[in-house]
Amino acid sequence: MIASTPIQIERTTTPKPKPPQDKLGFGIYFTDHMFIMNYTAEFGWHRSRIVPYQPITLDPAAKVFHYGQTVFEGLKAYKTADGRVQLFRPDANMKRMNRSNDRMSMPPIPTELALEAIKGLAKIDQDWIPDGEGNSLYIRPFVIATEALLGVQPSLEYQFIVIMSPVGAYYPEGINPVKIFVESHYVRAMVGGVGEAKTAGNYAAGLKAQDAAKDQGYTQVLWLDGAEHKYIEEVGSMNVFFKIDGTVYTPALNGSILDGITRNSVIRLLKHWNVPVVERVLSIEEIYEAGKNGKLEESFGTGTAAVISPVGELNWRGEKLIINGGKTGQLSEKIYNDLTGIQYGKLEDPFGWMI
Ligand code: PMP
Repeated sequence: MIASTPIQIERTTTPKPKPPQDKLGFGIYFTDHMFIMNYTAEFGWHRSRIVPYQPITLDPAAKVFHYGQTVFEGLKAYKTADGRVQLFRPDANMKRMNRSNDRMSMPPIPTELALEAIKGLAKIDQDWIPDGEGNSLYIRPFVIATEALLGVQPSLEYQFIVIMSPVGAYYPEGINPVKIFVESHYVRAMVGGVGEAKTAGNYAAGLKAQDAAKDQGYTQVLWLDGAEHKYIEEVGSMNVFFKIDGTVYTPALNGSILDGITRNSVIRLLKHWNVPVVERVLSIEEIYEAGKNGKLEESFGTGTAAVISPVGELNWRGEKLIINGGKTGQLSEKIYNDLTGIQYGKLEDPFGWMI
């Protein structure tokens, strides 16, 4: 294993112009450099390098194209008011990537090595981290099976690649609640399947339902369990929380739900504030029940991209449920302000999350 060799660096000779800070969007622009490292059964992870951002060439028989053996991650770097650059819990992302790798029969990447890659790349392209309220640098590490062999067995060769995209504020006009369609036909994942792995097929499998919900005027779908279509799993590609009668509930991790880093951070923040928080099986029926009894106070999704996304309306089998008058709740607002406060270095970080 030659994994501990230092990262080779080839700097671009043709830096790209930076995109306008007020039109960044999400995942549209990419920085000047990328990280790549190869894996072979013989050498393990080796040839770690930072190179100019460029297309990659793969054999058309590469397993990733046929059998979807691939995982990815998503995290962000933030610039503080005094010009420091900080990453939010990158170690948690790299540990999750290795759990995904394991589920997809892919080799683990030593966490230290993966962190070094991310830090090295963020440092080289640090002038790509936009300042300005709510702007950040989205980091997308991913692993692909590159062995050219049409046989359904784990690939013997892989590439680990990291690319980065400057992204704009998710809520340029303030946090906005969304309307959510409760999906009773399609499912995202099943217990025993790959729902808790961050792997491409989970996202492709969700597109059909997402499109159907959009056609009906809904921003995203609320996924129910695959077996009975009764229990709540996730909202779009976010974890989901409900505040009922003063207690915050979120579905317990059951193997088909992604273990979100924002989810975990929100739970820890709530505990820190002594707000009761419960992880357990949650049925859609009891949420509607609480709504009808006036006890459902707030609901929100959590994820790296938006941090918090309040849910203003649910539609389950044609029955609409308006939550908190369709407005952003106080707790959602407070969680958003505190988490982003920590991420941008405006608030103290009692958890040691920022690197
Ligand atoms: N669920 C799914 C399916 C996701 O893709 C994501 C985004 N990674 C999340 C939840 C939220 O996870 P995190 O808070 O780590 O971004």
